This record gives sequence, C-alpha cells and structure tokens, in this order.
Amino acid sequence: MRKKRLGRTGLMVSALGFGAMHLPKLTQQEADQLMNYALDRGITYIDTAAAYGDSQEKLGKAIASRRQEYVLATKTQKRSYVEAKQEIEQSLRLLETDYIDILQIHYVNYVKEYREIKAPDGALRAAEELKAKGYIGHIGITGHRPELLARWLRDYPFDTVLFHLSMVQPFAERDLMPTARELDVGMIAMKPLSGPFLSRTVEAIRFTGGSDAHVVLSGMKSIAEVDQNLQALEPEVTAEERARLIQMAEGLDEHGCRRCNYCSCPLGIKIPDTLIPSRYRARYGLLDAGEQIWQKSQALFAQCLTYEPCRERPLCEQKCPYHLPIQEEIRRLAAETDVSASTT
Ligand code: SF4
Ligand code: SF4
Repeated sequence: MRKKRLGRTGLMVSALGFGAMHLPKLTQQEADQLMNYALDRGITYIDTAAAYGDSQEKLGKAIASRRQEYVLATKTQKRSYVEAKQEIEQSLRLLETDYIDILQIHYVNYVKEYREIKAPDGALRAAEELKAKGYIGHIGITGHRPELLARWLRDYPFDTVLFHLSMVQPFAERDLMPTARELDVGMIAMKPLSGPFLSRTVEAIRFTGGSDAHVVLSGMKSIAEVDQNLQALEPEVTAEERARLIQMAEGLDEHGCRRCNYCSCPLGIKIPDTLIPSRYRARYGLLDAGEQIWQKSQALFAQCLTYEPCRERPLCEQKCPYHLPIQEEIRRLAAETDVSASTT
C-alpha cells in the first residue's frame, strides 16, 4: 500500500485508512481477524472515536500488541476540559496504549462549539496538557462544514483535519483543502461512498483517492471490504483519469447539502440522506443499503407536501445555514417518484 506524509505531522501513513466505527457490530474474534488482516495488508492509519460504541476497546484487544505498526487516531466529542480529559484518559486505557498519535476534537460544526472547545476550560486545553505530557502526538479537528474548518485551521494550529469528500460531496476541495494545503495540515478524507450510497464503488473511491487528501478513510467491517478498498486505490489515479472522474461527478453536488445536520424533520424524513444521493441515484443508482434508507424517506415525501407546520416557512429550512430550498427539493423528488411510479 502506498504511503503518504500526513502534512506537518511528518507521519508516514497508508493512503487507505481504516475507519473502525463498525467494530461494535463485530464479535471480538471477528475484530481480531479483521484488524490483523488490515495491518498485514499494509493499512497503517487506524481511526476510531470515543463515540463509536466499544470500537476502542475492541481495537485495543485486537492490535495493541502491534502498536508500533500503526498510526492511531481517536476522537473526543466532549467540549469541556474536565470531560475531555477524562474521556481521553479512558481512550488510552481502552486502546491499551500510552500514546495516541492523533487526538481529534470530534464533530465541531457550530461556531458556538468551537468557542467552547477553545475556552480556557475547554477540550483543547485537556488535549494540550496530555500532549505536553507525551500521551498525544498531534491535535486535529473533524467536522462537516468545510468553510468553517478552514477558518478554524487559521485560528488554531491543528495538525490534521478530517472531512467528507466524495463525488456527491466535493465541497471540501474548494472550501477547505486549499487552506489545509497552504498550512501543510494533514488531510484525512472520509466517506468516499458517502456512507452506504454510491454504487459505482471503485470510481467513487478513486475519486476521493485521486484528490490531494493524504488518507482516504473508509469504514470497513469485512475482509472483503478491505480487499475491495485496497484494490480500488491501486494504481495511483492519473491526471487523465482524475479528469474523467470529475466529469462523472459533474452536477452531483447541486443539492448543496454538507450533512451538517442542523435541520431535522418532525416527520422523520432523513434530509441529508435524501438530498445528498438524489442526483447520483437518478444517474447511477444506489447500493442496496443506501436505496433502502432512501426509500424509507421517500415514503414520507407525500406527507411533507401537506404538512401544516411547514406551510408558511419550512421548519428544516429555518435551520439550514446554507439556506437550501429543502422543501422544493423534496417536492421535486416526490414528483419524480410519481412519474416513475406511473410509468412502471
Ligand atoms: S418541509 Fe418537509 S422535510 Fe422540511 S421539516 Fe417540513 S415536513 Fe420535514
Ligand atoms: S439540509 Fe442544510 S442543515 Fe440539513 S444537513 Fe444539509 S446543509 Fe445541513
């Protein structure tokens, strides 16, 4: 597996990173096999989080004995000094290590949250203290709003940034990566398939792999997925292929949704899971699991059209920081569904 320098951390990491969020679905024995297989195949960037159920514990049990072979990244979603310190110390115990290479402040999407983590009694102070004591190598940040992440990279010397990058969510390429490049911040791109959605998996993974990101992070739960991802990232994407992939993705981001989850629908329509794959679905179809999620929301589209509390001003749109015309989009999709239903 190819290795890249993870920005100014200077760490050499595999171009494919192992996202360990699915380990809670596996038995310990399955996790042992999978994680050791990934290491044997040259995947040396391992990412987990305190928020991922028992992922850290399973990881610790599975591969702590091979700790020298991988770069370990975890996250805390706590905002205060006291809570973050406790959580990071617990991560060290669960991961059975005395050293976390990259500690990321997790899921920072609101300016208010950023202020909290930076306050004198905020989570960053806990990370800095533990770094000074040698328990943490580097401090990173993760979030779903590329333009805010770019702003925060200029405000605080984060060494890494973790963000969405896929054919249907290419926003970071314009709004975040130029800043990260300029500051030599390690770039970790997640969700190349946008979760369980993008059906043309090889092209989708190569789209993200052909960007300037140093690591493509993919959540994997089987040896077959590890093999598929490894194969998809070899050989390196050429400039010509990159141009083709960009062409393939053209217009798939018109929905504009960043998956920041500010919005919520009282009817239970999964708004980002509806908007983000919608154009891709029309052009290329979705993976089975993604199609099921999409269909569940689709069953509620008709109710959205007549939902009284949203008649004057749609509740979701009042919360969307990007002022997306969500209701109009749902209506468009509902109409498309009618057309396809009447022609089948
Ligand atoms: S406009 Fe539709 S999608 Fe938005 S909150 Fe109302 S019912 Fe839900
Ligand atoms: S619709 Fe708006 S608020 Fe909802 S996830 Fe997308 S960008 Fe965020």
